[in-house]
Amino acid sequence: MAKKNENRSDITLKCPKCNSLNYRTPKNKHNDPERMELNKFCPKCRCHTVHKETKN
Ligand SMILES: [Zn+2]
Repeated sequence: MAKKNENRSDITLKCPKCNSLNYRTPKNKHNDPERMELNKFCPKCRCHTVHKETKN
């Protein structure tokens, strides 16, 4: 039986320009205690923007 990993949780990545919630990704709280920022492609802005972590 798989052990539940409490350091892992899903986060949502939001585009700061249009506020679209474009990506969901699992995050390891132990490895990434800070708020994540990832340069991702936003289909609404049609360019790469620095997506920031939001709470689900
Ligand atoms: Zn956008």
